[in-house]
Amino acid sequence: MDLGIAGRWALVGGASKGLGLGCAQALVREGVNVLVVARGDQVLQQAAEQLRAQAQLGAQVQALACDITTVQGRQAIFGLRRDFDIVVTNAGGPPPGDFRSWDRQTWIDAIDANMLTPIELIKATVDGMAARGFGRIVNITSSSVKAPIDILGLSNGARSGLTGFVAGLARSDLAAQGVTINNLLPGAFDTDRLRATQAVAAAKLGKGIEEVVATRRQAIAARRFGTAEEFGEVCAFLCSAQAAYMTGQNILLDGGAYPGTF
Ligand code: NAD
Repeated sequence: MDLGIAGRWALVGGASKGLGLGCAQALVREGVNVLVVARGDQVLQQAAEQLRAQAQLGAQVQALACDITTVQGRQAIFGLRRDFDIVVTNAGGPPPGDFRSWDRQTWIDAIDANMLTPIELIKATVDGMAARGFGRIVNITSSSVKAPIDILGLSNGARSGLTGFVAGLARSDLAAQGVTINNLLPGAFDTDRLRATQAVAAAKLGKGIEEVVATRRQAIAARRFGTAEEFGEVCAFLCSAQAAYMTGQNILLDGGAYPGTF
C-alpha cells in the first residue's frame, strides 16, 4: 500500500537504534525524508548510513547528534529545519527502581524526558503543520500507561501525564486542520532497553536473566517479543494519508499481553 507520504519531512527522536530506528526505517522506505536524532554520534551515523541504503523514492536522511531532552538539543534540531510534516517523539525511558529511592530531581528528569520533551516538540511544529494542512505526531509512550509496570513507576507516571495532555490537544482545532496526534504504546520489544530492564528485574528477583526473559515471553499471548521493524510499520501507517481520521488514540502493540477487552 502506498501510504501517500513520499517527499514529506519527518523528525524521529531516539533513532540510532531500537524503536526509533524502526520508525525511521519504515518512513524512508515510504520515501519520507528524515532527520534522525540520538545522543551518540557514532552509532547514529551508522544508523543514518543504514537508512540511506533503505531509502526509496529519493528520500533524504539527515542525522544530528544531540540530547533531545534539552533546550539546546531542540534548538539545534529546529535550527536545521522547522517545517516537519511528521514528528515521532521518542527518547530513552526513565530508569527502573523503587519509588522510595527517587528524589525530586529523579522525577523532574523523567517528566522532562518523557512528558515535557514531547510537548515541546509538538509545540514547535503543530502550528506549521496546521498552516500547511497536514501533520502527524506519533508519541512513543509505553504499555505502562495502560497497565503499570512495578519497577517502572517513573514511566507509569510521566507518560500518563503526556497521555492526558495529548488527549486534549488532539481534540482541539488542530484536528480540523489536518493534524493528527496519536500515541504508540510498546509492550515488550526486543531492544537494548528491554534487555536492560530485564536485567534489573532479574537482580530484584534474585533470578537469572534467562529465566526472567522466558517468564516475560510466556506472559505474552504471541509468546515472543516484538521487533522494531513491526513497530515501525505501524508508526508509518499512523503517519499515512490513510490515517487522516484517526487522532487522540492510544495504540497498544503488545502481542496480546494486555488481558483486558478494551
Ligand atoms: P533503546 O535503548 O533501544 O533506544 C533508545 C534510543 O533513543 C537510542 O537511539 C538512544 O541513543 C536514543 N536516546 C536516548 N535518550 C536520548 C536523548 N535524551 N536524546 C536523544 N536520543 C536519545 O530503547 P527502545 O527500546 O527503542 O525504547 C524507545 C522508547 O520506548 C523508550 O522511551 C522506552 O522506554 C520505550 N519503551 C520501550 C519498550 C521496549 O520493550 N523496548 C517498552 C515500553 C516502552
